[in-house]
Amino acid sequence: MPPVPIDAASAATRAAELRREIEHHNYLYYALDTPELSDAAYDSLLRELREIEEAYPELVNAESPTQRVGTAPLQLFAPVQHASRMYSLDNAMDLDELDAWLARVRAAVGERGCAFTCELKIDGSSLALTYEDGTMVRAATRGDGKVGEEVTPNIRTVRDVPLRLRDEARPAGAADTLFAEEAAPWPALEVRGEIYMPKASFERLNEEQLAADAAPFANPRNAAAGSLRQKDSSVTASRDLATFMYAIADPRALGIRRQSEVLEWLRLAGFHVNPDVVTCADASAVHDYCASALDRREALPYEIDGVVVKVDELSLQDELGYTSKAPRWAIAYKFPPEEKTTVLREIRVQVGRTGVLTPLAEFEPVTVSGSTIARATLHNEDEVRRKDVRVGDTIIVRKAGDVIPEVVGPVAGMRPEGAVQWTAPTHCPSCGGPTWREPGEVAVRCTNVACPAQRLERIGHWASRGATDIDGMGSEIIMRLVETGAVHDIADFYTLSADQLAALDMGRVKKDNTPVTLGETVAAKLLASIEASRHRTLARVLFGLGIRHVGASVAEALAGAFGSLDALSAASAEEIATVEGVGPKIAAGVRAFLDNPDNLEVIEKLRASGVSLEDERTEPARPQTLAGLTFVLTGALERFTRDEATAELKALGAKVSSSVSKKTSYVVAGEDAGSKYDKAVELGVALLAEDDLARIIETGQAPEATS
Ligand code: AMP
Ligand code: ZN
Repeated sequence: MPPVPIDAASAATRAAELRREIEHHNYLYYALDTPELSDAAYDSLLRELREIEEAYPELVNAESPTQRVGTAPLQLFAPVQHASRMYSLDNAMDLDELDAWLARVRAAVGERGCAFTCELKIDGSSLALTYEDGTMVRAATRGDGKVGEEVTPNIRTVRDVPLRLRDEARPAGAADTLFAEEAAPWPALEVRGEIYMPKASFERLNEEQLAADAAPFANPRNAAAGSLRQKDSSVTASRDLATFMYAIADPRALGIRRQSEVLEWLRLAGFHVNPDVVTCADASAVHDYCASALDRREALPYEIDGVVVKVDELSLQDELGYTSKAPRWAIAYKFPPEEKTTVLREIRVQVGRTGVLTPLAEFEPVTVSGSTIARATLHNEDEVRRKDVRVGDTIIVRKAGDVIPEVVGPVAGMRPEGAVQWTAPTHCPSCGGPTWREPGEVAVRCTNVACPAQRLERIGHWASRGATDIDGMGSEIIMRLVETGAVHDIADFYTLSADQLAALDMGRVKKDNTPVTLGETVAAKLLASIEASRHRTLARVLFGLGIRHVGASVAEALAGAFGSLDALSAASAEEIATVEGVGPKIAAGVRAFLDNPDNLEVIEKLRASGVSLEDERTEPARPQTLAGLTFVLTGALERFTRDEATAELKALGAKVSSSVSKKTSYVVAGEDAGSKYDKAVELGVALLAEDDLARIIETGQAPEATS
């Protein structure tokens, strides 16, 4: 590697040369997929540039390839107005719907006829890149289609995004000026496409996530969106993201007349453009492309969920125009949900906290829609009968809504001889107690109240996040506490000592054959969590008790109406049934629970251990400035737990709901926000970042509506 030049002028010249060369190799590598330089040589160029820039910091600029590594956090996620609306696409769910669309277009176009471009529908996140004077100045998400969120520093780390457009793509009449300084300026451009994570990178990322004890991503689309929405762009830089660009906000500014020319120009300008595109003269060619895309889907290194068919001619696109939501000149043909076959090994029965026996299909692991699945719930006995799946069957599996594993049914004709129909066990697989199916109900239950599986589930439920939230009390520790006899019921958590926890035998041995114990550090943390769990709201306590039919929202209603466990205990079933959201069935369940002497004993033990069984009744301390507003929280917040944020908002009079609707006033989107975020965008609900939330909680004032 040559030494760093000693004078600023030659340093500037060398840096410019290096940048041009590096971007050229980026282009060859990412856009054309024809690298000419070894990785080592490429790295050497980059290193030389970095050293020059370190010696002459004034030479660093935004378009330098050294700036791709991820810089300090900037003001991310600021609103960005798109040059023109970013529409979503209408869907054709099957070939008939696709044909109907093709026929509509043909009717509108009439005699003139028209060609269609077919592109793969990349399953990622939409992206808009703004170029001024040929340099990338801004990157934004789609947001609500009019206003997106700024993600520029993160996008700079994505290596196939050109930071500078290639001069070859300059519009005619500008590039051939005699003096470079006088070249006509580039028009301002907004280029659009999809950012995605290749399948292999997704698998690797999830392995790393698991190794680091972090939650894995459900699919490559979530992984891409989550990686893009990082506050620290060096995290984005560490994720292997890529783009396929396919649109220009105003292609006419470049003299372009067709979608196929848009793609050509993008390629020339240095963008990564999917080569898998065809221009079709008629419907049958469109059909062929859709069929072949479906065939090739699995072998592609990235996820696709369909084919986008677009009218090629821009003038015809203009004539066809837009609905309020989507262009009339394009349609997304969606693939049927991916289905795989595998072999059903076992129908295992799980015993839940209320004694319900749930059949679970365990099958040979298969990859479906981007992730590996090996089990799926079969819900109940009737469902197993209806689907008629039997152990040994070759079964068809898929992901419902592309998320939840589901058994579709057996492959007819592949049933091994002697496969028997499944029936719910007459005895509980955990305790051997008799099972019972209430006439008119689908659930089969273990009738033994002392059933260890139920007990384990109930004890775990008490400690779970929605209940008293004993942080760190995971299922393995609970299992060991129960198995070693340290915990029989939920009140026993409060009798545990630090020494007892530290010495807890985890049922495994080290290399030297000594037993693995929990250890002092973990024990101290756990004890602090247990201590904190003594002071939870009544709603959490009621939920945590695991009373039949009392979910989180019923618990909330009961706590609001009665204020203390004693007051609830003193109420009759009729009185309980009058609470809004609580009917006679729930009231009877509550009454039965509170009349059971075993339960009363546990409740008294809780009281004696100092577990709070009532809510402090305080007048609203703060003015109810958020009254009438509904918030929805989604994604991970950094400064608050979701419950804290909820409590703060409620203290100001706001409602906090768990689902997004037109009535939602604001959606607060934290890291890795998922479907609620998408829903908010779809419905045009105002989005807030965690900073906005912090400000609202601090000042008690909601921001002006933005839409
Ligand atoms: P949907 O989100 O199902 O309404 O589909 C619309 C989205 O598909 C667009 O916003 C794009 O992000 C995405 N998409 C993926 N590939 C393409 C493509 N080749 N052309 C247009 N949109 C695409
Ligand atoms: Zn049992």
